[in-house]
Amino acid sequence: MHELSMADAIVKTILDIAEKNDAEEIIEVTIELGKLTLLNPEQLKFMLEVISEDTLLDGAEFKMEIIPVEIECGSCNYTGSIDSDELDHFTPILSCPQCGERDLKVISGRECNIKQIKIEKRE
Ligand SMILES: [Zn+2]
Repeated sequence: MHELSMADAIVKTILDIAEKNDAEEIIEVTIELGKLTLLNPEQLKFMLEVISEDTLLDGAEFKMEIIPVEIECGSCNYTGSIDSDELDHFTPILSCPQCGERDLKVISGRECNIKQIKIEKRE
C-alpha cells in the first residue's frame, strides 16, 4: 500500500505545519504529484481523507496537481515531456521519444510535495 504510507506522511507534515502556524482549521491543501511516483491520485486523496478524520484536517479539501514527466536526453539532447500514459505502471522504463535512449535524466515527475495549505488562524 504505497498510497497509504505516503498519505500518512503527508498528513503528519501538514498537521505539523498547521500547528506551528496556530491553525484552527485547515481549509484546503494542494499536493503536487509527479506521474513517476506511480501513485494513484484518487486513491491517495481517499487515503488522505480517511487519515484526516478527527484531526485538524477533517473536512479539508485536497487538490491534486499532476506533474508530467520531463526528461533530458544525453544522447540527442532532447529535453521535454514524455507521454507518460505509455508508461508501464508497475515498472516504468523511460525512453527518449526522439532516439530511444534509456539513460535519461529525469527533470520532473518524481515529486510528491505539499504545494499550498490554506488555514484558518486563531485570533
Ligand atoms: Zn534522445
